[in-house]
Amino acid sequence: MSETPDFSRGAAFCDGHFVPISDAKISVLDWGFTRSDVTYDVVHVRDGAFFRLADHLDRFERSLRVFRLAPPYGRDEIARIAAQCVVLSGLRNAYVAMVCTRGRPRIAGSRRPADCDNTFLAYAIPWIDVIPLDVQARGAHIWIASTQRIPPQSIDPTAKNYHWGDLTQGLFEAHDAGADTAILLDADGFVTEGPGFNVFMIRDGEVLTPDRGALEGITRQSVLDVCAAAGIPARVAPLRAEDFLEADEAFCATTAGGVMPASRINGRILSNDRPGPITMQLRELYWKLHQAERHLTPLNFDDPEQPFKNDWRKATPEPEGYRNEQT
Ligand code: PLP
Repeated sequence: MSETPDFSRGAAFCDGHFVPISDAKISVLDWGFTRSDVTYDVVHVRDGAFFRLADHLDRFERSLRVFRLAPPYGRDEIARIAAQCVVLSGLRNAYVAMVCTRGRPRIAGSRRPADCDNTFLAYAIPWIDVIPLDVQARGAHIWIASTQRIPPQSIDPTAKNYHWGDLTQGLFEAHDAGADTAILLDADGFVTEGPGFNVFMIRDGEVLTPDRGALEGITRQSVLDVCAAAGIPARVAPLRAEDFLEADEAFCATTAGGVMPASRINGRILSNDRPGPITMQLRELYWKLHQAERHLTPLNFDDPEQPFKNDWRKATPEPEGYRNEQT
């Protein structure tokens, strides 16, 4: 007698099947594992609805083009698979990843990427705050690492990737220095981003975020959107370490956590060692944006076969020709 799988810790779609997250595996021969030859995107589900799903799918498709990957599923199927993972897990607040790896070469030992069968997997796991909530409450202590961000000429940081060696070294530096997390500079000394988040600073009432070396975060876009709507001046600009050290406030922004306040940079105290007032206003506005219907894709938890409540596709048509661009 086969037991009903337990999806309560998360559900994954792997090798064409839905499995409990602990059973999701890839081959040790997959270039996604041996070469970080993979792209992905992460969207969150809050109170039972995807937030900005179409934007995440757009970015995933763009990342696929940059790395010349072609999953065996189209936009519609990918959205549906991701939604089914969430519905199977029953998680109303979830971290949802869609991943495309280069796969294994069809001809053993081949060094031609075109000889690989690209694979697609997805999973939904419980909500993650990349900076824990108690740290956010006092404000994260950020460390400007000496490890440089990989040059954009080598790996395009606007295409989401697993080339995290630099970000991980930055985290070790931060933790060795007693800080919570890191931000990295590029070869010219400009601030880029941190391990899994974009970074913002506020100076004289203006909200600023780096113009280079970083993923164009969907959360970053939401912050810029709420600034525009609330009449708060905001700009994407070249920013150096010294700018951050002289900031009035700073915060990090990501899908897995939202607007996450900082209170120190390299030991320098910002906004009385607490989350700053404009940061807190932006955090509130960010969560209010989660009530905007245009950004929400509600899920139907009653039936994994019908995981969407509405016909979400109308708002998110598949752009022409992103598939089969691998060779
Ligand atoms: N920068 C990096 C390197 C990331 O990995 C992420 C998200 O995981 C972000 C920035 C923030 O992007 P988003 O707001 O779209 O989650």
